[in-house]
Amino acid sequence: MCTPTARLNLVLLSDSLSWSRDVSAQARAMGITAVHTTADAREAVTLLAGGFPAVSHLLLQPSQAGDLLPQLVNMTAAEAPHGIALVVLGDAGPLVGNPSALAMTFVPEPGAAGTGQGWLQRVLQPSPGPSAINAGNTARNDRLSVEELRDALYGARIQTRYQPIVNMADSRPIGLEVLARLEHPVRGILQPDLFVPQIEEAGLAWPLTEAVVRRAFEDWGQRRLEAFGFTLALNFPLDVLLIPEALTWLEARRREAAIPAELLVIELTESRPVTEISRLRHAIATLRSIGYGLAIDDVGPEVRDHHALLDLQFTALKLDKDLVRESPDSTTAADFLTRTIATARAAGLTIVAEGVEDLQIWDRMRALGVDQAQGFLVARPLPAAAVPLWHRDWCARLA
Ligand code: C2E
Ligand code: CA
Ligand code: CA
Repeated sequence: MCTPTARLNLVLLSDSLSWSRDVSAQARAMGITAVHTTADAREAVTLLAGGFPAVSHLLLQPSQAGDLLPQLVNMTAAEAPHGIALVVLGDAGPLVGNPSALAMTFVPEPGAAGTGQGWLQRVLQPSPGPSAINAGNTARNDRLSVEELRDALYGARIQTRYQPIVNMADSRPIGLEVLARLEHPVRGILQPDLFVPQIEEAGLAWPLTEAVVRRAFEDWGQRRLEAFGFTLALNFPLDVLLIPEALTWLEARRREAAIPAELLVIELTESRPVTEISRLRHAIATLRSIGYGLAIDDVGPEVRDHHALLDLQFTALKLDKDLVRESPDSTTAADFLTRTIATARAAGLTIVAEGVEDLQIWDRMRALGVDQAQGFLVARPLPAAAVPLWHRDWCARLA
């Protein structure tokens, strides 16, 4: 069993002796040994990006983050609840107006009245229910209105994150999956489970896909993601894949952005059963003839029956993260995994495991013959500007 503090793995970004003394003393009193202190914002980015055990909290002195402040903030609140909580130390001025501010915890100064002895304990293990610390989170599960969804889609408030995918045989980075986030004016950065299903219900799947593709293609050029030769995987629900104009539009944007089709992978994300198999066959054949890769996403016993799709020209199959994470403890999951890998292999598909969170899962997937891995062990979904930092660090570790 985990003790309450076993999951606590802190990164302190600060150049102040008083903060680092205060944090280490309080952490020690709580029995936390995993405190990584650094004054280098780049190092903080790479620590947050991935690895095991995953970082649970970033204690951040904003003045120390320099140009990387937005990236560090985006790597924290954006990935809750499995993610990294952000604790802001000292002058919070540079964060005024940040859309994620509601999810942050503020600690004005070491040893100050109201913070004093024990503040770290209160910050790391807040009592359940609304508190001054996390008051903003209480609104997080409310449904968004269609107006809010439209405002975000047409007001350029869809953001993108990039989660690296690596080759299991040699750990070489080979691709990025593009993941959407919604920047809400009051609630901060929202994860897809809070808006993607609603967007799809409201018939807005195509505008969402457009917004994500535009963002990703901009980043590809402006953030020089092209320099790495990565593939870029885009999530397309079935309804969008079946719109001929959507594919024509995608192809026009791809040409404008000068991205080789061979570097793009379209992931068929939606899990409803496919009834329009001949239309889907046509869409896939069109994309394949240009050179795009096509992946069947979210394959798992409860998610998607992939058999009907196996004789279409897919190039890859992605194993659902819950299946991957449950397989060590569930024989049903393990049997399904073994069978699926065998059929996918026979169909000539590249097999990608999502949810590779630790070394045990990595080793297991590798032994089962999975080709590529995506998961928190490798990296979390990253803001575009953090991708080069992660890449440099990952390659240095391989060397
Ligand atoms: P997905 O396509 O299966 O994307 C992978 C999800 O797994 C991401 O969640 C990622 O953060 C999470 N993940 C990756 N590795 C791990 C791990 O090791 N452990 C755990 N616990 N989780 C991991 P995210 O970003 O919250 O996205 C959720 C889903 O929302 C996506 O699942 C996808 O179905 C949908 N989505 C995201 N972006 C888009 C988009 O642009 N368009 C559409 N239509 N759907 C999207
Ligand atoms: Ca996906
Ligand atoms: Ca999945």
